Amino acid sequence: VGPGDDCAVVDVPGRRLLLTTDALVEGVHFRLTWMTPEQIGRKAYLVNASDIAAMGGQPRYVLVSVTAPGRYAGRDLMRLNRAISAAARATGARVVGGNLTRGRTLSVTLTLIGDSPAHPVLRAGARAGDVLFVTGVLGQAARGLRQLRRDAGARGVAVERFRRPPCRLPAGALLARERIASAMIDVSDGLLQDLGHICTASGVGARIELASLPRAGDPMLALTGGEDYELLYAVPPHRLARLHALRGRLGCPMTRIGEIVPRAQGVRAIDARGRPVPVARAGFDHFAQRGPA
Ligand SMILES: [Mg+2]
Repeated sequence: VGPGDDCAVVDVPGRRLLLTTDALVEGVHFRLTWMTPEQIGRKAYLVNASDIAAMGGQPRYVLVSVTAPGRYAGRDLMRLNRAISAAARATGARVVGGNLTRGRTLSVTLTLIGDSPAHPVLRAGARAGDVLFVTGVLGQAARGLRQLRRDAGARGVAVERFRRPPCRLPAGALLARERIASAMIDVSDGLLQDLGHICTASGVGARIELASLPRAGDPMLALTGGEDYELLYAVPPHRLARLHALRGRLGCPMTRIGEIVPRAQGVRAIDARGRPVPVARAGFDHFAQRGPA
């Protein structure tokens, strides 16, 4: 599996591997006043692990590439690196190399190599009639980000969720191993946008019921907020009984949020009366003038 999914899938003799890379960039994804070096390091690892989770895999090896300004303290670099190593170890992976270079802002890029399940869950397998589920809660990290923008010293559950994404590796692995999910993606750029990726890859449409979204606040933030790092997956009707039998082993809550429909019906959210919900902006555009930070 080449570019366009959460991870690349490559077969080497005796092993099927997952490869992914992702960056956290100061001024785009965070400000230095918002997060400690430990929080930046841990989040850099977890956003990569999230892509491995979305394929149902197990992280194994990490390469770390850090760009830091000359003013960034050596002590803070040590803290950052230790946090990456600790987060990797906690999920059965280890840091095996990296690079440090000087630049204008802090940027932390990880490459994660993982073991693939026999049948990695791609974005392309969803079919009309499949039921859509999401793990955890949506919109909380986006709410935390709003709070941090207003006040770098903000506290609370939402801010903590922004600083510390969830780890859904056990859920992803179970959904893949049991062949429950027909398609899966991690919600990094906003539910609607990432659902759009599944629909494009699968050649289908989708209907989300706004009232059913597991959310802590504004339903629009749950639809488009981003940075949730929860798993969004489609389940064929004949696999629903198996899913419900195993739901206690996912290690997190899951919620039914809608269903896959024929492509001609498009991707949309509907309110409790079945009326389409207008959405101004589908999710985080990395190349917009104004990033989240
Ligand atoms: Mg992803």
